[in-house]
Amino acid sequence: MSQKAVVIGAGIGGLLAAAALSRAAPETEVLVLDRDVLPDGPEDRRGVPQGRHAHLLMAGGWSAMETLFEGGMRERLLEAGAREISLGSGMLALTPDAGWFHRYRWNGSRMITCTRALLDWVVRDALLAQATNVSIHRATVEGLIGDARRVRGVRVSGADSVLGTQVEADFVVDTSGRGSHNLRWLRDIGVGGVEERKVDCGLTNATRIYRTPAGAESFPLTMLQANPYNGRPGRSAMVLPIEGNRWMVSAGGTRGGEPPSDPQGFLKYIFDLPHPIVGRLIAGAEPLTDVAVSRSTSNVRRYFEKSPVWPERLLVMGDALATFNPAYGQGMSVAALGARDLFRTLREHGVSSPGLARRVLQDAARHVDTAWSTAVAMDVLYPDTKGGTPTLADRLATVFARRLTQAATGSLQAAAALYDITSLTAGPTRALRPGALLATLNGSPLPRLTEPPLLPSERRVLQRLTEAAAQPHATP
Ligand SMILES: Cc1cc2nc3c(=O)[nH]c(=O)nc-3n(C[C@H](O)[C@H](O)[C@H](O)COP(=O)(O)OP(=O)(O)OC[C@H]3O[C@@H](n4cnc5c(N)ncnc54)[C@H](O)[C@@H]3O)c2cc1C
Repeated sequence: MSQKAVVIGAGIGGLLAAAALSRAAPETEVLVLDRDVLPDGPEDRRGVPQGRHAHLLMAGGWSAMETLFEGGMRERLLEAGAREISLGSGMLALTPDAGWFHRYRWNGSRMITCTRALLDWVVRDALLAQATNVSIHRATVEGLIGDARRVRGVRVSGADSVLGTQVEADFVVDTSGRGSHNLRWLRDIGVGGVEERKVDCGLTNATRIYRTPAGAESFPLTMLQANPYNGRPGRSAMVLPIEGNRWMVSAGGTRGGEPPSDPQGFLKYIFDLPHPIVGRLIAGAEPLTDVAVSRSTSNVRRYFEKSPVWPERLLVMGDALATFNPAYGQGMSVAALGARDLFRTLREHGVSSPGLARRVLQDAARHVDTAWSTAVAMDVLYPDTKGGTPTLADRLATVFARRLTQAATGSLQAAAALYDITSLTAGPTRALRPGALLATLNGSPLPRLTEPPLLPSERRVLQRLTEAAAQPHATP
């Protein structure tokens, strides 16, 4: 191998960056370093604590992954048990202030749902199967080697003897996640002053997995969205079908409205939401786990692409670059889109091309912009959000997003635009196409739905589950 690249972290961002490097530069040896010992199957692990919570893989994310893996990724995930869900026809969603979305005979925008553990495992397996130039090692990265002009490797601890304490590399990608020490690492090699913005609505996520009740296997993904418009803490819940005939049930509450972690409190919290459907679905279902809680949910953005000084051969991707309130389900897709940019730029210019890292950072910033504006425009409205004084641009984005969502409840044109933007298959200007714009200005052409649009078979399932939960033997 003529060149060596180091990827810091074997989470989804690191695996996808390694796939991009190995495919675009097959002559490069790619070492992925992670402080965890990686499980030999779909298991949760310490380094990815958010993995116990719902992880929706939006269309923008999985279509970017298709580019990185021979034979694609969607088929592999579905074969492993993941579910594919149409946002237009396979989802029940209650909006904050416009009732339920109508369901459309339209399968245009789809997402993939499974546990994060399954996703990481399938991606890791595919990567190692297709790339003979990639290896994964246990090591904790402690800092960068190099200077403000160029990075030449990483300093590590806890590594196997093959690696030692310094790993020299021609290219380094930091995908060490939300807790990345990259600002300190950069300061240590003489790169300071990177601008950072943090907007934190204090979201707490509480998640529990249940066995899907018999007969409810085809029940749609069901979601009660949080309300950012009423001046009160946001509260939401979702039932997400995942592999192994299970439901992942997640409740989320912003500062002052946090869900509790005790089983009774968790269920009560869900029943207290504006509609009882989620509570009715799960009240009698068999829980398979405790309630897991996460508070690592703030939006944090580091503007590396604007830094006046940037070392050659260093890239930052995934959560190490930007994190988003997970309620919008965008982090993994932004990481995947960044990896696809890396792949395309590398294939065109090669690893040693001057300015390559800055070019990829600038491309990645476009995807970050879309996800950031979706998340922040809403989060700044919740009470006690930290770092979130709404700018004029935030306010305009909020008004437009609210009207688009209201229109999307009953207009397929508006719904398609909304789903394309939230799935990251299109940027915000997608909403300005004539059909979507007209619907946004005119409002929903269909009547407001105050109850979920259930098919007769689904209504029977819900009725049966409600009755079963009322029986004395029902378990909470
Ligand atoms: C509660 C919650 C729910 C979420 N839901 C969704 C969702 O529905 N959809 C979605 O797209 N995104 C979601 N996200 C975001 C998603 O989890 C992240 O965007 C994604 O994990 C980013 O991947 P990553 O590889 O950058 O970081 P991570 O997946 O966090 O991986 C980082 C890796 O780096 C390793 N590491 C850390 N430091 C070091 C070091 N110094 N040396 C070596 N290794 C190191 C860790 O062990 C880990 O393996 C959610 C996040 C949270 C918190």
